[in-house]
Amino acid sequence: MNSSSINIPQQNTNIPRKNKALFLDRDGVINHDPGDYTKSLEEFHILPTIMDKMKTWYDEGYKIIIITNQGGIAKGLYPATEVDAIHQYLQGRCIAEGFEITDFYYCPHHPEYSGKCFCRKPGSLLIEKAVHKYAIDPELSVMFGDRERDVQCAQGAGVRGIQIPTNGEILSVGEFLQGYSPS
Ligand SMILES: [Mg+2]
Ligand SMILES: [Zn+2]
Repeated sequence: MNSSSINIPQQNTNIPRKNKALFLDRDGVINHDPGDYTKSLEEFHILPTIMDKMKTWYDEGYKIIIITNQGGIAKGLYPATEVDAIHQYLQGRCIAEGFEITDFYYCPHHPEYSGKCFCRKPGSLLIEKAVHKYAIDPELSVMFGDRERDVQCAQGAGVRGIQIPTNGEILSVGEFLQGYSPS
């Protein structure tokens, strides 16, 4: 081997974005939202059909990425470590079902407690971070959330946003591709 055959990694500044993602709000979509913060693992109750629904997307090659506002951290209602513990628990449940969540993004801020930030939904920064990190094509992706701000967050990043009722059901990937609407 001579020096000319050494493969020097080159920075590719034009990486094609070809991955597709299912972005999900957390509270009221994955777990039951009682109308207040989910402050601990004890209060984290997974909704009945969400695990099966998520797996349909995973099996179709979508990266599953959680995008959640956790302003209760700024309010001092619970620590970030508890949010991490909840997400670790959820990931364990997913792995037991044969799929995984690619990443969890949360905004720990609250405008009345920690000032304005750029990551809190309806802002799109968290989705944009994920899009960059995982080379996601926003146009191939979708987000489900139970609030108007979830839809705004998605749209700001060029992702289709679909609002479902709080504690309702997301669509399976098959239902989505057939053009169903959440009821
Ligand atoms: Mg929600
Ligand atoms: Zn934030």
